[in-house]
Amino acid sequence: MTTPPLIIGDFQIHWLNGGNFRLDGGTMFGAVPKVLWEKKCKADAINTIPMSNDVLLVKTPDHNIIIDTGLGNKLTEKQLSIFQVTSPWSIVTELIALGLSREDIDLVLLTHCDFDHAGGVVMYDAEGNAELTFPAAVHYVQKTEWEDVEQPCRRAQSTYWPENFELLKKEGQLKIIDGYVEVAPGIKLRHTGGHTRGHQLVELTSKKETTVHLGDLFPTHAHSNPLWIMAYDNFPLEVINLKEEYFRHYREINSWFTFYHDPLVKACKLDELNNINLTWPPA
Ligand SMILES: [Zn+2]
Repeated sequence: MTTPPLIIGDFQIHWLNGGNFRLDGGTMFGAVPKVLWEKKCKADAINTIPMSNDVLLVKTPDHNIIIDTGLGNKLTEKQLSIFQVTSPWSIVTELIALGLSREDIDLVLLTHCDFDHAGGVVMYDAEGNAELTFPAAVHYVQKTEWEDVEQPCRRAQSTYWPENFELLKKEGQLKIIDGYVEVAPGIKLRHTGGHTRGHQLVELTSKKETTVHLGDLFPTHAHSNPLWIMAYDNFPLEVINLKEEYFRHYREINSWFTFYHDPLVKACKLDELNNINLTWPPA
């Protein structure tokens, strides 16, 4: 089922299928006991839960923007089976259905560079040659994130895959930023850290309406308790503090929060206790 676009002032936000997979439920909820998280997300016999990788397309009057790029089409048969990919990456055909080609995308905003977010930066064409999925787009990454792509720590070596980045640098489509930057009118990137050292959020504002994409700081609606964080977070205490800070800040301006990994809920609003009081699509 396709989610209807969320309208933020003059912006339209669409969710595209970046490849759905299944992950161990425990890893998605860190120290939270299974008896609690399973009330929100039912696990199967081998303890996995369904996860989306929803690529956000933001159409503004002047730009076509992609936020994160999904799993891509470069996974081997073995990887497809390990990650239990249940529906393969199909963002290119979904863009065509929306009247856009790969060349129409002019900005790609990467929250961070784990393979589930950056796997679609480079794709295979019909002959199996690697090429940039969005050849005309400037790709934005935070400075500390790129430092870690170039020299990953022991843990990041298994999630930052060189084949997702080599072409980006070679073809000059990479833009490294540092901190809080407005990359186009109403489109801001802000360094957060927490999940990875160089993780960033995306803030979209048009006609006094705002939505924020907190990336892997707020992966699904089931993570609205600031203490419910993933075992994948590299700096867990930072994530808890960042969630409290950004939930408060964006709640106060009545912002939407959009999701990347949620199979059901694509965006929500939070009340002052961080309970969800509105969802997209509407419940
Ligand atoms: Zn992720």
